[in-house]
Amino acid sequence: MHTFQPLYSISKIKLASFSIDVLRLDQVHPVISGNKWFKLKKYLEEARTSGKKRIITFGGAYSNHIVATAAAAKKFGFQSLGIIRGEEPAVHSHTLKAAREFGMMLLFSSRKAYENKKLSPELVNDPQAIIIPEGGYGIEGMLGASSILSSIKTEKYSHIFVAVGTGTTLAGLVMAASSKQEVAGISVLKNYTEHEAEINRLLPAVKHNSFKIFSDYHFGGYAKRSTELFAFMNQVYETTTIPTDFVYTAKTFYAVDNLARQRYFSPGDEILIVHTGGLQGNLSLPKGTLIFG
Ligand SMILES: *Cc1c(COP(=O)(O)O)cnc(C)c1O
Repeated sequence: MHTFQPLYSISKIKLASFSIDVLRLDQVHPVISGNKWFKLKKYLEEARTSGKKRIITFGGAYSNHIVATAAAAKKFGFQSLGIIRGEEPAVHSHTLKAAREFGMMLLFSSRKAYENKKLSPELVNDPQAIIIPEGGYGIEGMLGASSILSSIKTEKYSHIFVAVGTGTTLAGLVMAASSKQEVAGISVLKNYTEHEAEINRLLPAVKHNSFKIFSDYHFGGYAKRSTELFAFMNQVYETTTIPTDFVYTAKTFYAVDNLARQRYFSPGDEILIVHTGGLQGNLSLPKGTLIFG
């Protein structure tokens, strides 16, 4: 397996007149985007060292994790199988088409069977396969994500913000951050009360830094959007040239903008937003919704 050294930078922007730095994980790779590469890398290393041939994972029809896994598997010479939540749609999403183009086999699973995460015995017992949980949730995912803060200088930041789905990325940031840094997650799920427990389950039992979850910036729930959110995304792009995705990063930028307006920050605070990528998700929007492609 050749190694992959992702290159990315920090952009300096203003939100609500406040200076904010953005860690541009969206620059990591067009498809193995953002946090997904970091969450996958330990699983891929494990697959390689244990001589596995196949990667099996789970996700929805628009999942950034599915397409990132498909692309990473191809890049590093593994076969891949995606178990997709729900019946097979008449027309495949961009995400599923792209995953198939990267050679991923897709297996559609009724919502009920999917919720039970029941794999047929021949898949579970496939000695050639490793199984990556949905969204890369797990210790390996967290350990991979913990290197996000170490590959670029981030010690000076007092606040680090990231979108939260499974919370695996946030757990990695909490592991890597110093005790002087506040790590805060923006939940993209509505009324979801399990984030803290799910994140704490990943973190080592020994003392670790605390973290905070903001639950009021989901815009109605997972993948829900509004004209207000699109207007905000267009305005961010116009003023900063940074594209965001409507599921995760736009809501995170919006939250930081909103907190700045509420004077959540003090003079001297140094704010970092981790841009986790995911821009392929915007392909599901009607053309013309966003002023960037
Ligand atoms: C998957 C994803 C997340 C959520 O990451 P978790 O580690 O599951 O919390 C955040 N942002 C983007 C762009 C994603 O694709």
